[in-house]
Amino acid sequence: MKTKKIGMIAIILLFIMNLAYLPAIRAESFLGKFERGVEQEIGYYNYQSLIRQKSPARLKPAQAKRIQRIFEQLVAQSSRSDEVEYTLTIVEDPAINAFAVPGGYIFVNTGLIDFAQSDGEIAGVIGHEIAHIDRKHTMKSLYRTVGMSALWNLAMYKNDSSYKEVLNRVAGVSMTLIQLGYSREAEFEADAYGVRMMTAAGYSKNELLNFWKRVDAQSGNELPSIFQMFSTHPPVKERIAAIQEI
Ligand SMILES: [Zn+2]
Repeated sequence: MKTKKIGMIAIILLFIMNLAYLPAIRAESFLGKFERGVEQEIGYYNYQSLIRQKSPARLKPAQAKRIQRIFEQLVAQSSRSDEVEYTLTIVEDPAINAFAVPGGYIFVNTGLIDFAQSDGEIAGVIGHEIAHIDRKHTMKSLYRTVGMSALWNLAMYKNDSSYKEVLNRVAGVSMTLIQLGYSREAEFEADAYGVRMMTAAGYSKNELLNFWKRVDAQSGNELPSIFQMFSTHPPVKERIAAIQEI
């Protein structure tokens, strides 16, 4: 009898909790959908303008396949892999650089591929870029910079005559934010998540450390321009120390 009573109470409690939680879940998924739509619009716009400016890499098919495989192994580890369609674009550029655009567009320069000495080193850098998307770093600073209302307009007035103008402006801010670089906190967070993704994909974080140690050894106090990727990042020695702690 006592067990039955407890069972009934538990069922009633679960029912009440469900009622309380359901609207919250619905609201969250609505907001989530809205955010994803806006991220996709802005990211695709940025992606389009970038591919107009850059030349596609001329890689041997086996090498292109190898980088794509590493990329896919890491994407599978992203917490957003079922809501974001990650794509990899390799561009012809000697600068050792990779970057991420909202919506899952990851760019990798041929200079980075040439500098890397193993699949694990490439995995470490790509993992870091995927982590910027995974943690929505650009979108978060975009919300802070242009405000939620500009983004809301993008989602609500797609057929409006001013839509293109708003998209152009907001996407321009997004591009500037990517070029200016993320905050130190965002960089350290991307390092931490990137390392988790690369280890879950079967790579050792020591490979990423090797990459950074070589960057450090070649740089002295000032990073040569070929290392443009790292000029906005926290100092290399600090990053190495933080990665060792993960
Ligand atoms: Zn970064």
